[in-house]
Amino acid sequence: MFFFLILSILLGVFSWVLIKEYQIEKFRFQSKKIELTKNAKKLCKEEEILKEKIEDFKKKTSQLFAFYDTARLISPLFNKKELTTAFVDKLSSLEGIDRISLSELQGSNCHRFKINQKDDYLYLDTQSSDIFGLFPLFAKLLTVSLERLELYGRLQELSIRDYLTGTYNRRFFNQRVEEEFLRSKKLKNKLSFLMIDIDDFKRINDTYGHLVGDAVLERCASLILEGVRQIDFVGRLGGEEFGVLLTDTDKAGAIMVSERICSRISQEKIKVFDENLNITVSIGVATYPSNTIYMDLFTEIADKALYRAKDSGKDRVSWF
Ligand code: GH3
Ligand code: MG
Ligand code: MG
Repeated sequence: MFFFLILSILLGVFSWVLIKEYQIEKFRFQSKKIELTKNAKKLCKEEEILKEKIEDFKKKTSQLFAFYDTARLISPLFNKKELTTAFVDKLSSLEGIDRISLSELQGSNCHRFKINQKDDYLYLDTQSSDIFGLFPLFAKLLTVSLERLELYGRLQELSIRDYLTGTYNRRFFNQRVEEEFLRSKKLKNKLSFLMIDIDDFKRINDTYGHLVGDAVLERCASLILEGVRQIDFVGRLGGEEFGVLLTDTDKAGAIMVSERICSRISQEKIKVFDENLNITVSIGVATYPSNTIYMDLFTEIADKALYRAKDSGKDRVSWF
C-alpha cells in the first residue's frame, strides 16, 4: 500500500515535471514564433524598401540613359536647326513630358529654362516631378551644344578668311574657283575671273611703313567688295594681290565691273593716319568659255592679262 502511495507520488511529481517541461518548451516555442514573425515582418518591410529603391534606381537610370542618349544623338550635329529639332523630338518622346518647345508655351505647368545670353528659353510642360528634376541638366546640355555650334561656326569662318582683309583666303578661294568652273561648265554659264594687283605697293610700304601698307590693303579690299555682288567671291591670293570670281558673267560684264573697281580705287584718297594716299590697281580679266575651256588656263590667262596691264602703264584693265 505504502509502495503504491510512494509510486503515485513519484508518478505525480514526474508528470508535474513533464508538464512544466512541456510548458517551458511551449513558451520557448511561442517566443521563437513571435521572434520569427517579427523578423519576417521586418524582412517584408526591408524587401519593400528594397523594391522601392530598385524602382527609383531604374527610373533614375532610365532618365540618365535618356540624357546620355540625347547627348549622343545631338553631338554629331553641326547644323542649328537639325540639332534643336532632334533635341526637342527626343525630349518629347520621354515619359512625363506633355509639351516642350524652344518658343513660348502657354499652360499652368509650363516651366522655362534659360539656354543662352539672348533671352532664349527652353519651355517645358509636365506633371511629372521626376523628369522636372532632371531638366536643368537637359537645358544645360542644349546650352553647351549651341555654344559648341557657335564656336564651330566661328572657327570655320576663321579658317576660310584672310585675317587682315576679311576676304577669303587663297586656299578657300581656289576651291571656289574650281567648283564654280565645273558648275559653269555643267550649267553652260559664263564665268569671269579678275586678278587685281595694287600698283607700286612696295613703294607705299617703303615710304610709309607696313602699318600704312596694311591699312591700304584693308581699304582696297573693302572697295573691291563694294564693287561686286554678294554672290561673287573675293579672295586674297597673296601680298597685295586679290582674285575676284564673277559668277554667270561674260567678258563685257567682267570688263565693266573691273573698270568700275579700277576707277573707284584711283578716285579715292585713301586716308591712313595723317596721310591721304592715291592708290591705283591693275586688273587682268579672263572669261570662260570665251578665253578658255580649261580650268588650268583660266587663272593663268587673267595673270597674263594683268601683266599686260602693268606693262602698258598700270592703273588699267586688260584682257584678251
Ligand atoms: P607692281 O606695281 O609691279 O605690282 O609693284 P609692287 O610694288 O606693287 O609689287 P611688288 O611685288 O614689288 O611688291 C609687293 C609688296 O607687297 C612687297 C611686300 O613687302 C608687300 N606685302 C606683301 N604682303 C604684305 C602685307 O600683308 N602687308 C604689307 N604692308 N605689305 C605686304
Ligand atoms: Mg603690286
Ligand atoms: Mg603683286
